[in-house]
Amino acid sequence: MTAYPLIVPVKGKYLKPVSTSNTAEFVMENHSVSLVEHLVDEGYGRYKYRYRLHTQAPNRFEDTLEYDIGCPRCQSQLRLCGRPLDAYDHGLYKCPACEKQNGRY
Ligand SMILES: [Zn+2]
Repeated sequence: MTAYPLIVPVKGKYLKPVSTSNTAEFVMENHSVSLVEHLVDEGYGRYKYRYRLHTQAPNRFEDTLEYDIGCPRCQSQLRLCGRPLDAYDHGLYKCPACEKQNGRY
């Protein structure tokens, strides 16, 4: 499992993902906002990347919707595609640009 720390800007709403060699557990525990990567088996040997927004402190899902989250692979904006799990693990996101470019994603 991979997690990307998200840089929260002083101004604006765009959360920029950064690459790190740290474990997902470390990233989730040490950054206020992070993006956890999930590889979803679509069947027929096809896989798609999905990203779950994680916050260190409990947050209302409605508040997390205020942000525009960048794709760790292409930096374009992710789109919400799944429900939040709890106050720490929020919506599931996908990248329309990556999926369009490469059928495997
Ligand atoms: Zn992308």
